[in-house]
Amino acid sequence: MIENLCVILGDQLSQNIASLKNFRKEQDKILMMEVVNEASYVNHHKKKLVLVFSAMRHFAENLKKQGYPIIYSKIDNSSNTFTEELVKHCKNIKPKKIVIVHPGEYRVLQEIKKWKKILKIPVSIIEDNRFFCNIDEFQKWAGNKKELRMETFYRMMRKKHHILVDDDGKPQGGKWNYDVKNRKRLPKSHPKIPQLLEHRPDRITNQVIIDVKKKFSKHFGDLEPFWFATTNQDAMKNLEEFIENRLELFGPYEDAMVQNEKFLYHSVLSMYLNIGLLEPKQVINKVLQKKNISIESIEGFVRQILGWREYIRGIYWHEMPKYSKTNFFNAKNHLPEFYWTGKTEMNCMKNCLKQTIQDAYAHHIQRLMITGNFSLIAGIDPKQVCDWYLSVYADAFEWVELPNTHGMTLYADGGILGTKPYAASGNYINKMSDYCKECKYDVKQKEGKDACPFNYLYWNFFLTNREKLENNPRLWTTFSNIKKMSKERKKQIKNDSKKFLIQIKKI
Ligand SMILES: Cc1cc2nc3c(=O)[nH]c(=O)nc-3n(C[C@H](O)[C@H](O)[C@H](O)COP(=O)(O)OP(=O)(O)OC[C@H]3O[C@@H](n4cnc5c(N)ncnc54)[C@H](O)[C@@H]3O)c2cc1C
Ligand code: SF4
Repeated sequence: MIENLCVILGDQLSQNIASLKNFRKEQDKILMMEVVNEASYVNHHKKKLVLVFSAMRHFAENLKKQGYPIIYSKIDNSSNTFTEELVKHCKNIKPKKIVIVHPGEYRVLQEIKKWKKILKIPVSIIEDNRFFCNIDEFQKWAGNKKELRMETFYRMMRKKHHILVDDDGKPQGGKWNYDVKNRKRLPKSHPKIPQLLEHRPDRITNQVIIDVKKKFSKHFGDLEPFWFATTNQDAMKNLEEFIENRLELFGPYEDAMVQNEKFLYHSVLSMYLNIGLLEPKQVINKVLQKKNISIESIEGFVRQILGWREYIRGIYWHEMPKYSKTNFFNAKNHLPEFYWTGKTEMNCMKNCLKQTIQDAYAHHIQRLMITGNFSLIAGIDPKQVCDWYLSVYADAFEWVELPNTHGMTLYADGGILGTKPYAASGNYINKMSDYCKECKYDVKQKEGKDACPFNYLYWNFFLTNREKLENNPRLWTTFSNIKKMSKERKKQIKNDSKKFLIQIKKI
């Protein structure tokens, strides 16, 4: 008889995962499941499906080699849900208890909570120790605070974990935050950017590619060429390559966007971090060991992982389930079809969408200030926008996707996460990218059919949501400009926006 059945989910692929800590090979068993519902509850990018299934199969094979007894359900022979598949195996092996690490998503936690009743055995949900800040600690930090600001949280984490702080608790280099120095556009004369390390699919990955082609051919995105790491060793090589070749310029060009340069100096590690092939503590330790890197880049990168990533997870568990239901601006427009096809004449959108279709990747500013900004100022329904982001990126899991999209990008939470909506006109995009020079639209024109749609949609957004936003002190300049606007100009903005929004419905 089996004592503990240890269930390992597809985003828990870390050798140090807490559920394996007290595992006894003679009397416990591991269960890993590829199930249809998880692969299809949104229209996941095909490359994301290959990443998760291939990484799971590699992880299982590695555990087997180390003598762990393991049951593995592959997608071609598996049930619809975790619960159905688990019930099937429990009937055969009759474990005394289920052990599982706390899942990343609220939806999955609700499913797990029902297992005790269905299986009539205890279910132990143990803490995920891969994060710097656990859920309870974040709740305590949040306490009765009026505002849950990332910067305050981040400083607390730096001090607590003694990262980039002196012995007296002061920030190394004298500042907590080097953001102002990190907003450079990539100059034309910039030398060639180092190429990202890509991996050839091995036997296991090739089989997964066949399985995904067979079962999920209608899903979003290009399946091949597939180049992601699918093991901890290969993901580690990507981390090393990033530290060696791209970390130094990560900070200064963090916000830059360039046509046909998908990755720039970004790490492209989120998909490995989010499924457990890399662990945040390991990544930060390695980065801190690197000598002769500017404080702007080191701090900029540490802030993303120790600050943003942990804070976003904290907000998710602090606010769910009500968080996903809010719609502060009452935005109701449908997500335009071009989000799925990339067929639009807005060159910035086309570039970001094209690379999303090809590689299930776009960097933060592309997600926030191009596709996200457009969906905010075009008044698109938050649920449809969130489903899109959850589908199309290889790193998208609800705990990290939802606060970033619903909160940071759409301000649909009314300001729990951000202090103001990240709305921007074409001017910002032109400043930070080279997209505008090859666009059908004219970024300098403010009105009429040739004007950049971001220009009039931007003002239309503030005119439409004036009552909800005009008392926000961070928007003082925006609304003082609106006060100075003539009636005719306002009317023109409304007309241009209305025409454009009707026109994109037809594409
Ligand atoms: C609308 C929107 C949706 C997003 N959805 C996701 C998502 O589903 N999954 C996801 O991991 N990230 C998401 N992000 C955050 C961020 O865009 C990605 O983490 C980042 O682009 C991944 O690329 P990278 O590994 O090259 O990151 P880098 O720019 O190299 O940053 C380093 C690491 O920091 C972490 N990080 C940076 N910013 C954030 C952030 N805002 N939230 C959480 N972690 C962060 C990531 O782990 C990332 O790998 C989203 C951002 C926006 C604006
Ligand atoms: S002109 Fe407007 S739509 Fe075209 S690339 Fe620039 S910002 Fe995008």
